[in-house]
Amino acid sequence: MAINLDSKDAIIREERLGSTVCWDGDLEGFAECTACGGAQNKERRFSQAGICPNGCAAGNLLSIRDAAVIMHGPAGCSHVGSATVGHQAASRINARYEAIGYGDDMNENDTIFGSIDNLKAMAVEVIESRKPAALFIVNSCASAIIGEDIDSLVSELKETYDLPIGTVNCEGFKSQVWFSGVDATFHTLVNTLVKEPQEKRDVVNFINFFESERSYLTDIFGRLGVTLQFLVVNSSVDEISHIGESRATVSVCSTLGTYLGHALEQKFDVPFLKTINPMGMTGFDTWFRGIAEILDKKDEAEEIIRQERAKYLPKIEEIKKKTTGLKAVLAMGAGYSWEMARVLQELGIEILSLSAGHYDPRQDGDNIPPAIEYMTENSTSNFITNVSDNQNFEVFNIIHTLKPDVFFSRHPGFTVWATKQNIPAVYVGDEYLALGYKGTLALANMIVDAVTNRSFETNLATHARLPYTSWWLNQQHAAMHKEA
Ligand code: SF4
Repeated sequence: MAINLDSKDAIIREERLGSTVCWDGDLEGFAECTACGGAQNKERRFSQAGICPNGCAAGNLLSIRDAAVIMHGPAGCSHVGSATVGHQAASRINARYEAIGYGDDMNENDTIFGSIDNLKAMAVEVIESRKPAALFIVNSCASAIIGEDIDSLVSELKETYDLPIGTVNCEGFKSQVWFSGVDATFHTLVNTLVKEPQEKRDVVNFINFFESERSYLTDIFGRLGVTLQFLVVNSSVDEISHIGESRATVSVCSTLGTYLGHALEQKFDVPFLKTINPMGMTGFDTWFRGIAEILDKKDEAEEIIRQERAKYLPKIEEIKKKTTGLKAVLAMGAGYSWEMARVLQELGIEILSLSAGHYDPRQDGDNIPPAIEYMTENSTSNFITNVSDNQNFEVFNIIHTLKPDVFFSRHPGFTVWATKQNIPAVYVGDEYLALGYKGTLALANMIVDAVTNRSFETNLATHARLPYTSWWLNQQHAAMHKEA
């Protein structure tokens, strides 16, 4: 279904895509549900944790080099956004930026009588003193509940100041899926910053999180005759204003890129690549061939793939002798869990259980998420599958029951729960860890290190007191009962 860019706000994922944060079963059951249009089931009756979409939106905006962000809400809401900025890469050559982020610290009085005047005073001061290239005002639960009229303030400011000013409405209570916050950001960027194209440029938009492989990707895309516009971390307001002129959009994660990729395709005819991501060997080949086809550079892409294989495949085959037969449990985001499961199977590792942060049955082009479609068609085994949005107690139980050789997580708070149970944990924090052939080799080496050097988790497990009782640990997920 087309994205409604005329809507004041981005429609949340639950309503737009049928997303859910709760499901439990196995891969075959999951595939059946997906084929029927969605694995929607059950409300979780107890939730230990969650991620606020609002903080994700603010963090995303704060990573734009010359934009200012004001969080209209209590101090705690401002912290959520600012915390994500610490992860932003400083990898761009000569590009040092300091995030221009403010919060107006709504207090109890403000939540009764409103504080739009405070917000206006802060916006004026930020514009006049920091001279940002754009200003974004992010609302919060408190400002949304009392119905603060931020849009009228934005109209008033625009009459005085000549810069793009936008609101991002993604109060945390609106959606359980944190990517709804990222979508809200992209909705505002497309409607506030991106200009009508004046020309086509040899640029590919590259949506990613932290751009750690900027130089490698710049090199291989340069050999296809295009430069990369990384989005949105480290980009400038001016650069974002031109992304409607690019020849294509790709994303390191289709869950991250679905809204912006499809919005640019819909509004400016910029093709969005809809394949599995470039992690692992099959992923890299499929993804790179896909972009080469759009750019009409198939021969150049084949040569690059040939060179990568020649350089890394013999080493991958060698180390695969040590990874084959290992048993793994994964708990990662909605996209990466499936991408990583594919890479691990390429290394001969058996997946026992996969926990995905949320589940989008469809993406904005009405397609099944490519990484899920690939695994439901090509997985080498049927494994326990569940959707669990950072619910540590569930993942702890799964690790305790299945006792894998190794546990994989993309969120640092998870790894400790494996380590304390004397299970080696691999933290895949860098989205490029398994990029292509080079990354596959790096990941394989990391896995072998983790399962070989066991002193850390053995020591920790010896001395750690676990917070969960045997009552909880003896309960097992429905899918595990079925296996038994
Ligand atoms: S859920 Fe609401 S109150 Fe909590 S951090 Fe998010 S916006 Fe603020």
